[in-house]
Amino acid sequence: MRASDKPLTSNALTLPVSGRIDMPASERYSTVPSFWSATAHPHPDLRTLDADIETDVAIVGGGFTGLTTAHYLQRSGIDCVVLEANDAGWGASGRNGGMAVLRYKSGWSGLTQQVGLETTQHMFRMLHDGIDSLEATIAEYGIECGFGRCGHVTAAHGAQPLAALEADVRWLEREMGYEGAALLSRQETSRLIGTDEYVGAYLERRSGAIHPLNYARGLAAGVAQKVPVFVSTPVTGYRRDGAAFVLDTPRARVRAKRIVVATNAYTGLFPLPIDLARRIVPVPSNIVATEPLAPSVAAGILPEGQVVTDTRRINLYFRMTPDRRMVFGSRGHLSGSNEPWAFAHIEAAMHRVFPALRDVRIDYRWNGKVGFSLDYFPHFGQAEPGIYYGIGYSGRGVVLTHMVAKALAAMLRGESVDAGPITSARFAPIPMHRFYPIGIRLYTAYYKFLDAREETR
Ligand SMILES: Cc1cc2nc3c(=O)[nH]c(=O)nc-3n(C[C@H](O)[C@H](O)[C@H](O)COP(=O)(O)OP(=O)(O)OC[C@H]3O[C@@H](n4cnc5c(N)ncnc54)[C@H](O)[C@@H]3O)c2cc1C
Repeated sequence: MRASDKPLTSNALTLPVSGRIDMPASERYSTVPSFWSATAHPHPDLRTLDADIETDVAIVGGGFTGLTTAHYLQRSGIDCVVLEANDAGWGASGRNGGMAVLRYKSGWSGLTQQVGLETTQHMFRMLHDGIDSLEATIAEYGIECGFGRCGHVTAAHGAQPLAALEADVRWLEREMGYEGAALLSRQETSRLIGTDEYVGAYLERRSGAIHPLNYARGLAAGVAQKVPVFVSTPVTGYRRDGAAFVLDTPRARVRAKRIVVATNAYTGLFPLPIDLARRIVPVPSNIVATEPLAPSVAAGILPEGQVVTDTRRINLYFRMTPDRRMVFGSRGHLSGSNEPWAFAHIEAAMHRVFPALRDVRIDYRWNGKVGFSLDYFPHFGQAEPGIYYGIGYSGRGVVLTHMVAKALAAMLRGESVDAGPITSARFAPIPMHRFYPIGIRLYTAYYKFLDAREETR
């Protein structure tokens, strides 16, 4: 019997939870209005788990990773369910910049020195398959999320990072015969972005952009046609029971042969008996969206519609929305506050890059958590027998979640999957993890110092 209709024989838990769970105010969409939530299609009509069920794979987390894993498992004929504590896309998946970029944090040339040519070539192919599969999934479910291959500009803040980007373009031509990337001169960069902030750039033409919350909701609606997707259903604990696991949720239990943890930067929301939360650092990222720009103000800003991230370690990322708003983000305030003061540094950076935006109104300010791994690669695999995970996208999850989920599903089918450092066994708990807020402060200061030292005009 499928997960949706097979009850467990054990008694259901009867904790009194009505609909939504009690989350800290700063973590709730209702108090974190974003441009995406203000312009999203309605959330699909999904149920809360209220009766015990049995399945092969219980997926914890209903963001891009969890939903996409369910998509591929279902295609392989593997019975699964998705258990989401809040709404589909409530986490970073529904709050991000929507930039479907085709670069790992390390560039291609540097990556080759790190992991060798063959592994880098394989990682390149996986990433490109990731965006092609993302596009195919959007088409399969007819998701209206504005996906388009608008291109992604990586803008260099100095001569040294520009030289690394140039090495990447040469590497792609030489080792992959790939012509989708190009190095841009200072003048061309200035024309494409509409600022003199950068000394040059790398343009990746196959990259794209989405409305992230519409994508998450559309994906949830599509997946839910064949896989039970439960919302307002936090997994509050689990234990082994013979060869299976029993997962606790407030109103019912799930018996599963295997578990996939797809909770990324929100892994610490509930204290599950697994050390995954200690393998990544949850770093806040803040975004603002302006009012729609008047044609005279918008003139010359991102005229061809690419999305942009820059090469700073504390990087800036920005794009235009279809209604000509500037969406601009960077490292957030550690407090997680949504008060305007917590966005002052983002707005100052936006005004520096685009002086013409000094007097425009900010209509939306919101934040989310990015799950950083120490090596900036995502990681997936088996944490202990029967417990799988896909986390640590380090701010690049729109394509990487798709890539990881597809590979994770292959692993759950029993296939051997090797993705170099992404599947490396060296993804261990971070020593003294509980001090991460201090670590973030120290690294932010140090990285800002290094970024400033590299800046050339
Ligand atoms: C502000 C911001 C901007 C970003 N911009 C970009 C960008 O432009 N491009 C890009 O590629 N990447 C970007 N990212 C990164 C990207 O959003 C993430 O990598 C990606 O969304 C991670 O998806 P996920 O499904 O793994 O995790 P999430 O989307 O965070 O989902 C995790 C889910 O797990 C749920 N959960 C947690 N614990 C439990 C539990 N015990 N039981 C049940 N459910 C649970 C949470 O409620 C949450 O919904 C950005 C991130 C942020 C925060």
